[in-house]
Amino acid sequence: MLESRLVTTLSAFDQGDRRAAARLISLVENGGPQAEEVLHRLYPRLGRVPRIGITGPPGVGKSTLVDTLIRHHRQNDLRVGVVAVDPSSPFSGGAVLGDRVRMGDLATDPGVFIRSMATRGSLGGLARATKDVADVLEAFGHDILIIETVGVGQTEMDIAAAADTVVVVVSPESGDSIQAMKAGLMEVADVLVVNKADRPAAGQMMRTLEADLHLRPAAPWTPPVVATIASRGEGVAELTDAVSRHYDHLQESGTLEERRLDRARTEIAAILDDRLRQHAHQRLADQLAPWAELVVQGEATPYSAARSLLAALLEEHS
Ligand code: GDP
Repeated sequence: MLESRLVTTLSAFDQGDRRAAARLISLVENGGPQAEEVLHRLYPRLGRVPRIGITGPPGVGKSTLVDTLIRHHRQNDLRVGVVAVDPSSPFSGGAVLGDRVRMGDLATDPGVFIRSMATRGSLGGLARATKDVADVLEAFGHDILIIETVGVGQTEMDIAAAADTVVVVVSPESGDSIQAMKAGLMEVADVLVVNKADRPAAGQMMRTLEADLHLRPAAPWTPPVVATIASRGEGVAELTDAVSRHYDHLQESGTLEERRLDRARTEIAAILDDRLRQHAHQRLADQLAPWAELVVQGEATPYSAARSLLAALLEEHS
């Protein structure tokens, strides 16, 4: 059952009230039974809007590019929802402030909704929270969703992989592409962007990336390499075009359905993981200390201890 205040918020949300949207976003970000109930209600409206992940090493110009993309879509009267995730920033307040300054007039445009998120201590929960916030933004009636995240580790990859189309951004700065490769970003790229194409080394970088792509085994989709100068809005139309060609490809080849099934499987497994871990820790917390003593005394190993604890837990459920 939903609290009556939440029922009011949901009906304001349905009427396009931004404050209600912000409230629901905070609710799902924090998780819990009410959040689940809200998402349950919004679910039937989902699955129709393209989700674009924008990722890459820090400093390549992702935020600038997202800014320009938003403006581009606004010119076509599309409503854009953005989740900007910065797992490396411990200060969510700072991130929000940064966005306000950065986005300028976009912050007051009713057709744009930007939500910044930072770690809040739990990297594991961040992928889930990002997906849930994106769901709320879609249900709010946006036509396009952008999920922006810095690409430096596994969780950031998971976040990027929650999108239908993953755009990996690099810049001609030495080291960017190496960092992207190390993080495995090149493998998840559906579209590659060389931003800061005003820099002299950009042409060389484009050629290197294209040569790398040619070495890959033939696949139904080869990621196009697009040059952009985000700070001047150049190349953004080409980027949008590449993204929509990829989306068409997903739809025509049936891959969109496959990706969504894959995502749903991953999501269920992650929630299950989370719940099982929580449940196990709650049930077994008291028994850890005595087992630890046995391990230290040499009467058990950590493995035999874990096995016995697990057996006890499973016994409870049989
Ligand atoms: P992020 O960390 O990837 O989000 O990068 P930002 O969008 O914050 O950009 C990092 C810096 O690169 C900023 O000073 C931008 O003004 C600058 N920048 C962004 N795009 C371009 C570009 O196309 N050319 C040049 N020369 N600088 C750019």
